[in-house]
Amino acid sequence: MNAGTFDARSGPVGIFGGTFDPIHLGHLRTGFELLQLLALGEMRWIPVGDPGHRGPPLASAELRLAMLRAAVADQPGFVVDDREMRRRGASFTVDTLEELRTELPGRPLCLVLGMDAFLGFTGWRRWQDILALAHLVVAHRPGWERPQDAVLGGLLAARGTTDAADLHAAQAGRIYVHAVTQLEISSTGLREIITSGRDPRFLVPEAVRDIIVETGCYARRER
Ligand code: ATP
Repeated sequence: MNAGTFDARSGPVGIFGGTFDPIHLGHLRTGFELLQLLALGEMRWIPVGDPGHRGPPLASAELRLAMLRAAVADQPGFVVDDREMRRRGASFTVDTLEELRTELPGRPLCLVLGMDAFLGFTGWRRWQDILALAHLVVAHRPGWERPQDAVLGGLLAARGTTDAADLHAAQAGRIYVHAVTQLEISSTGLREIITSGRDPRFLVPEAVRDIIVETGCYARRER
């Protein structure tokens, strides 16, 4: 595998979902490392519209989308997909993957998850179907411990791989666990920094900071 090159027409499609309230360099660095390491055709950034499992985002959907578009604009291979924002009601990953599977016949799909999300994966709606539709790429910090949970442990034993070529060889069903550079940045922490009047410079791309400053979208306290 020639890491660092990607073919937008045929390589696997990475899927990086999140609230992105706002997008920050922790997200972007992880997406970039995986794009290169796994020789993905593209990394799709899919902001959630209605994050049913948590409180409403502070910034509007339009602003979160504008920040995301500004953040990825200069990076070839980064693509923003706003389908979940256009969908009414709660969004489920499995619905998005079913749509992508139809639109991208033959292309492997690689769903990016943090280790925290992976530990809760068997609680996701139709999680078995997700594994039939996509690979999982679990990005974690160095020194992670194997999940104690029997189901997750079994999944890893049966489907785990450390070879990126396996993500090209099949369309779905493998679990690739990989340490990425961890930047201790969170959207929650960023919102606190901004609300308290401090500057988010060097934690978000400059173009995202410009939107935050211009709109004052995080100037008020959390609900
Ligand atoms: P919040 O603090 O509001 O919960 P967040 O920073 O965790 O937000 P999300 O939009 O909820 O951002 O995260 C989307 C995805 O990005 C999740 O899979 C999460 O695990 C991952 N992620 C969040 N922060 C980082 C980071 N610093 N480095 C790498 N991945 C991250």
